[in-house]
Parts: sequence; structure tokens; C-alpha cells
Amino acid sequence: MSTYTPEQVSKLVDGKLDWDTTLRMLSMPKDPERFSLYLQALQARRPWSDRIVLPLGPHLHVVQQTQSKRWVIQCDCGHVFCDWNENWKLHANLYVRETEAAMTEVYPRLMAPDTAWQVYREYSCQQCGTLHDVEAPTPWYPVIHDFEPDIDAFYKEWVKLPLPERSN
Ligand SMILES: [Zn+2]
Repeated sequence: MSTYTPEQVSKLVDGKLDWDTTLRMLSMPKDPERFSLYLQALQARRPWSDRIVLPLGPHLHVVQQTQSKRWVIQCDCGHVFCDWNENWKLHANLYVRETEAAMTEVYPRLMAPDTAWQVYREYSCQQCGTLHDVEAPTPWYPVIHDFEPDIDAFYKEWVKLPLPERSN
């Protein structure tokens, strides 16, 4: 039995849940139909016809390109960041908040972190400007590749669906 309310499912489809909750909902083992229904709902709301393989965030997806069957990471607007197994952040627009002034645009005054040990890195789409992820690392920390899903295992073991064809 599903433990999620219709409101939560609707938020899921609209991309208004955080990714941890989304992944937990998608991975509920007793509801194998949920993932394909979710993909259908996502697909219906996108302006392109490339097949969604896996959502990486509310507006970012691994898709299978219609003609070539290449898997790429694509924004809602259609912008392609890179191949599916690359770090899309290295192909995104990066804005680093590393001054007190820049921090207080997003934090209340005096609650902003000390920029000597923490900065904000904001990764957005260079075509439409959608903000896809934010990191709050120490200034010298390398770009984080935080989400490298095992898509083959996810399809085979969790949602038990045939893996979409992949040419790359
Ligand atoms: Zn975009």
C-alpha cells in the first residue's frame, strides 16, 4: 500500500519535492508501476520527445535521444549538458558566492557562513538559467559529483523494467 498522499504524488510530478524524497518514493518496492507512471507524467509535461530514462532533479534528466539512442543529460528547456555518465556540473554555468555581500543575498544577515571556510556554488543551465543544484563546500573543495546512479541496476532490480536502448 502506498503511504503517500495524492498531494505528494502531485508535487512529485511537478518537481516540488526534494530529491531524497523523490528517490524514496520512486524506489518503493511494493509499487512497481509507480516509476513508469511517473515517467509518463514527466514526459507529458516536457516540450521535447526524447525519452526520459531517469530524472536527476526537478528539471534535469537522463534522456535517450530519439534518433541516435545516445543517453545524455538534458534540461527541461532542451539544452544538452553532456553524456549521461559525465559530471554535468562541469558543463553548467557556475556562480560562486564567496563574499559576505553575495552570501547575504541568500542568507539572513549574520547567519551567513564565513566565506573563509564555506562558499556557495550554484550550477545552472546556460540556455534557460534554471538553477539545478547548489553546493556549500569549503572554498578549495573540488566540484562534487554527487549523484552517479546505477541505472542498469535501478531498472533491473528496483523497477523491473526493460532498460531503454543505449548507443553510448
Ligand atoms: Zn535549460
